[in-house]
Amino acid sequence: MIKYVQRSLLWTALSLRERDALVHQTLFNGRRTCPNGALRYGNDGSIVCTICWERSEPRQELVHAIPRYTQNMDAAWLVVEQITQPPHSAEEAMQAANTRFALWWEMATLWAYSREDAAAEICIAALRAAGIELDTTS
Ligand SMILES: [Zn+2]
Repeated sequence: MIKYVQRSLLWTALSLRERDALVHQTLFNGRRTCPNGALRYGNDGSIVCTICWERSEPRQELVHAIPRYTQNMDAAWLVVEQITQPPHSAEEAMQAANTRFALWWEMATLWAYSREDAAAEICIAALRAAGIELDTTS
């Protein structure tokens, strides 16, 4: 049986939502990450989340979507917090990701980017640090 070998993912071929989903699965195991502080309450009784941009119907419960990590600096910051947290006991893979990201962070010139582009740069660096091979050429 021939085993399919995955080559690097072509970043530019992914939609924005696919990029966010890749970050969500790779770095957060798909679990919810929107902090409660991100909620805004509208005059009509609706709730908006400023991390995933979901909005509830008036007086209905809000169901969070995948945060827009690659498009929003507040959401991208969750990625920074996640990948730079001290590694758990014997998780050497995570420790390596942590170190790789820290090295990138030291060299990054995020001030040269718009907020949206900086968010995407953070996500690309975090995915690479976690072992995902990304081709970002267009
Ligand atoms: Zn949310």
